[in-house]
Amino acid sequence: FSSVPSPQSNSTEENGFKGHGMLAPFTAGWQSTDVHPLVIERSEGSYVYDIDGKKYLDSLAGLWCTALGGSEPRLVKAATEQLHKLPFYHSFWNRTTKPSLDLAKELLSMFTAREMGKVFFTNSGSEANDSQVKLVWYYNNALGRPDKKKFIARSKSYHGSTLISASLSGLPALHQKFDLPAPFVLHTDCPHYWRFHLPGETEEEFATRLANNLEELILKEGPETIAAFIAEPVMGAGGVIPPPKTYFEKVQAIVKKYDILFIADEVITAFGRLGTMFGSDMYNIKPDLVSMAKALSSAYVPIGAIMVSPEISDVIHSQSNKLGSFAHGFTYSGHPVACAVAIEALKIYQERNIPDHVKQISPRFQEGVKAFAGSPIVGEIRGVGMILGTEFADNKSPNDPFPAEWGVGAIFGVECQKRGMLVRVAGDNIMMSPPLIMTPDEVEELVSIYGDALKATE
Ligand code: PLP
Repeated sequence: FSSVPSPQSNSTEENGFKGHGMLAPFTAGWQSTDVHPLVIERSEGSYVYDIDGKKYLDSLAGLWCTALGGSEPRLVKAATEQLHKLPFYHSFWNRTTKPSLDLAKELLSMFTAREMGKVFFTNSGSEANDSQVKLVWYYNNALGRPDKKKFIARSKSYHGSTLISASLSGLPALHQKFDLPAPFVLHTDCPHYWRFHLPGETEEEFATRLANNLEELILKEGPETIAAFIAEPVMGAGGVIPPPKTYFEKVQAIVKKYDILFIADEVITAFGRLGTMFGSDMYNIKPDLVSMAKALSSAYVPIGAIMVSPEISDVIHSQSNKLGSFAHGFTYSGHPVACAVAIEALKIYQERNIPDHVKQISPRFQEGVKAFAGSPIVGEIRGVGMILGTEFADNKSPNDPFPAEWGVGAIFGVECQKRGMLVRVAGDNIMMSPPLIMTPDEVEELVSIYGDALKATE
C-alpha cells in the first residue's frame, strides 16, 4: 500500500468542475481545486450511470435509500399526477391534503409490531429524530415531569446531522469541532460483539453485560432524569452492526423498568431491508416511537416520518388543546407530492411483497460475500437481509487496525469502482445496502465484483 487513493472522479477542470461551488456534505477537501466529484447522471433499476456513460452497480442504493431502484415508473407517475393536481399545500392550523392523511393512515396500519397512535411528517431522518426529542420533552412537560429530559443513545450510532440528531449520534466526527454532543445526551455501549466482547464471553453474556451497563448509567444519572433510549435495529453508518443475540430483549426490559421511552430509529431498516417490513418485527422491538425516512418514498422525493404510541399522542393532543396548538412543524411536513410518492412506494412494498423478495435473494447476498471472510485483510463481514458491512483489519483482529495512511478501505472502494460497482467507504469499513428489487443475477454480479476487488486489494 503506497498511498491512500482518492476516489475516482469523472469531473475535470475542462468540464467545469474546478473548485466547484458546493460545500459538499461529508466530503473532505471541498475547498481544494484538486478534488473533483464523481458526477452521477441517471439511474436504471439497480444501476447508476455517470456523466461519461459509465455504468455502476449501486451497492448502496444511493445512501441506503432507493429500495425500489432508480427507475420505478409508478413512483414517477404518482409524483407527476400529484404535481399536476396539487403541487403544494401545507398541513398547519387544521388544514391539510388528502395524500398526507392517506399516508398517515397507511403507515399506522402497516406497522404491526405494536399499536401506534399518530404520524408526524418531516422531510428527513434528521428532522424525524429532532422531532422525537421535542415530542418527548413536550410529553414529559405535559405529564409534569420537567426533569425527565435526558436521552441515551449508543456509541457508533447514526441518527442524523442536525444539532440534536448529531448529538444523539455516537460518532466522534459528528461532534468534534461542532461543540457537540448537547449535554442532555448520554452514550452507552456499542453492541458490536466482534469488537467489544471479552475473552470467552458468549453473545448472550455480552448482551447481558451491555444491558447491565445501561442500567448502571440510568441509576447513576437518576431514572427520573432519563426520558428516552434511541436505537437503530441494525446500526448502519457506524459500520453495519446487527445486534448480538438477546440484546434488544434485555435492553427493552431495562428501559421499561425505569419508565424510559424506546425510540426505534428505522430510517434504514423500515420497508423490508432486513427481510421483515420493519426492523422492529425482526428483533421483536415494541417501540414507543419510530423514525422513518429514505425508503419511505424510495428516496424519489425527500420525506421522513415519526410514529408515536397512542399513549403519547393522547397526551400531546390534550396538552396542545390546552395551549392552543402543538407549536412544532415544518412548511413541508406532509408535502403532498412526497406523500403521494410514499403512498405508491408502500403499495409496491406490499403488492410485490418486498420483504419476501429480500428473504429470497438475501441468503446468496450474505453467504456470497461472507465466503470471502477468510481473506487475510478482512477482520469481519457482518449483516442481515440486504445490508452488509466489511471491516478490514490486520491479523484479522479487532485490536489491529491497519495504519490509516495505508487506506485499505479506500483502495477497495477504488477497485470496486474500476470494476463498475459503487460501495460506501468509511475508513476501513465498507458498507453495502443495495436496492431491494435486485435480481439474483445482480446479486451474483455484486458478489463477483466484491471478490475481484478484494483480491486486487490484498
Ligand atoms: N437515522 C439513521 C439510522 C440514518 O441512517 C440516517 C441517515 O443515514 C439518519 C437518521 C438521518 O437521515 P437524513 O440524512 O435523511 O437526515
